[in-house]
Formats: sequence, structure tokens, C-alpha cells
Amino acid sequence: MQDILLALRDTRTDPATFRRLGTRISVLLAAEALRDLPTRPASVQTPLSEAGGCRVAADVVVVPVLRAGLGMLDAVLEMWPAARVGHIGLQRDEMTAVASRYYAKLPARLGDSFVMMIDPMLATGGSAVAALDMLREAGARAIRIICIVAAPEGIALVERHHPDAHIFTPVVDAGLNEHKYIVPGLGDFGDRLYGTF
Ligand code: URA
Repeated sequence: MQDILLALRDTRTDPATFRRLGTRISVLLAAEALRDLPTRPASVQTPLSEAGGCRVAADVVVVPVLRAGLGMLDAVLEMWPAARVGHIGLQRDEMTAVASRYYAKLPARLGDSFVMMIDPMLATGGSAVAALDMLREAGARAIRIICIVAAPEGIALVERHHPDAHIFTPVVDAGLNEHKYIVPGLGDFGDRLYGTF
């Protein structure tokens, strides 16, 4: 995972490669976040005999925070194709770094679902807290956040406002610069994903 992360950080990595690497690291993170999905015992008939095992007994909902979160969606759906998908659109003011909502479409009945919010950069935590507020208002209870790079400031804010949301990240970087970008980070994830720089 750290090898992929270093390549994502590398400023020479072009958008096509960045997308592929973003998907690859997200598969690994999604596997980690889904590790303790609730299951129930089940059995099947093999050609030789009966074999016991288990089946997932949870409704999985994945919610990318637009637009950078879309870069992680295919990976989660690869891990769990049956997941229902919601979308949250948040715009970060470049000057103040305050997140405002411009779009939300969430699946119904989130109360008993295993909800995974995906947003690659947990920076100030403002967007994450805004998105978590929306998920909670919609009834979500068990929420996991998957990100690719986190800053201590973002983790602290999420823990203060949503102490029961579980954060999965492969790295916690040093902190934020004056423009609220993560340092060393990897730059603007959405811009690097879609070549909008
Ligand atoms: N969003 C990004 O894409 N990168 C950062 O460093 C912070 C927020």
C-alpha cells in the first residue's frame, strides 16, 4: 500500500496512472474497511459434500464525496458489487476552506446499513464533518470513512464531532499548509485524477 501511495504522491505521475493507482490503493483500503462486515452461517453443496461457511448479512452503502471521492468508487464496487451508492457534493471555498453542500442523493433506510463514506483527502475535516452530518441526518449509524491521506487536523475534527465514525487511512501526514492543503500530501486529488490543472 505504501508503495502505491508514494507513486500517487509523485508529481510526475500522470492522470491516467494516478487513476489506476487510486483504484488499486482503494481496493486494499476497502478490503480493510469491509473486513468485519457482519455475516451469518450458511452452507452450500459442493460436488462432493456439504460445505459450511458464511454469507455477508449487511446492506452496504458507499457514499463518495464529489468529486474526488469518485476516484475511489469503482474500487469499492469491485470489492462489493451489491453496495448501494449515495452521492454528496461539497464545494470547498478556496479562500476559507469552508465546505458548502451543492448536491445530495442518498439511498433510503440507512439505519441498519454499513455505510462507507469515501473521500481521498481528509484535510481540515470540514467536508468530512459536513458529509457525516448529512449521513447522520439521513439515519446512518455505523459509518466508516475511507481516505488515502489524512492530516492530524482532519482526524481531530472528525473525532470531536463524530467520535463513533471509524477512519481508515494508510497514512497521517505532517499537517496543513496556509491554503489548507495536506503537506507533503499529493496535491489536489480531484485535479490530479481528472487532469484539471
Ligand atoms: N483536498 C485535496 O485534494 N488535497 C489536499 O491536500 C487537501 C484537500
